[in-house]
Amino acid sequence: MILIIRNLVCVVVFWLGSSVIVAESSMKRMVQTDSDPKYVRNMNYSENWFRVLRTGIDTAREYLGNYGPLCVYIIGQEQDELKSDRIANKIIDAYCRNRHGDQGESLKGCLKSNGASLIKRAREGSTEAYLSYVDFTDSPLAELIFINPHGFPMPYLYTRGIHEYAHVYQRAFPTTPTWLTEGGAEFLAFYIGDQHKWIDFEKSMKESMRMARSVKKGEASLIDFEDVSKIENERPHLKKYYRHLAYDAGAWAVALLIHRSESRSVKQFAMNFYPMVDKNGWQSAVSKYGGFDSITGFYDEFNSLLKRTEIEQGLLLRSIKP
Ligand SMILES: [Zn+2]
Repeated sequence: MILIIRNLVCVVVFWLGSSVIVAESSMKRMVQTDSDPKYVRNMNYSENWFRVLRTGIDTAREYLGNYGPLCVYIIGQEQDELKSDRIANKIIDAYCRNRHGDQGESLKGCLKSNGASLIKRAREGSTEAYLSYVDFTDSPLAELIFINPHGFPMPYLYTRGIHEYAHVYQRAFPTTPTWLTEGGAEFLAFYIGDQHKWIDFEKSMKESMRMARSVKKGEASLIDFEDVSKIENERPHLKKYYRHLAYDAGAWAVALLIHRSESRSVKQFAMNFYPMVDKNGWQSAVSKYGGFDSITGFYDEFNSLLKRTEIEQGLLLRSIKP
């Protein structure tokens, strides 16, 4: 049996059933809502993965606030759960109708391409987790897509739910550079995940530092990952550092920002920094929030943090408060 969320449920009822608290200037942002996320999944895939992801997502919703509208897709097979076309087509149909409603041509295109591709990847055994942000509709829709989540290690999988939901929250504010977006989500996943004993914060940060420092000297640094689409188009040879710099160095850049802030509090960062981005733009928000004279000052300090000893880096982490 498959739970199908049709377009009207996901898009319209979300809006009707919610009290919209945040009124941003752009109509294409996530808003705070009373509605729960909607889940679409193939019900013959072990419920365990659904429970783990929902727990992670709910933990992040409690921490960051409830934003939407959000549809979560959990598509997986450990044996042959997606073998049946009937089951596969129900998911494709739900996904495409959530995006396009009953609009003939776009719906048809989705069924054949994007929708079908989800099932194809799941059947081929790909393991994926990402936010896909649909803003071609009048009201935006956030989709969290999890394909074969059983492929992620446990209990780390809980933190993937936190990471992806952090992106939903970030979408209530203006876009930030890639390293700040990924680093922010990664940092929060580590920090909140540690509070629930799903991951070890310091150990994860240490591993991220190892990755960040493994980038060949002079080849690339944090600043190169302000806009990953530029890397894709203009400097594809740096793509290999996406993980190292956007995620791992990014998480440390956020740690530095929090360490340099007045409160040194993670919660305060989550609640106060993003509204500052809205007000001042990200560069000015980073400078102001961390007490740097300019964004260059921030990047300089970050580069010297990479060179500090493990003990000094550990002290920085331990200065951070809940
Ligand atoms: Zn991410």
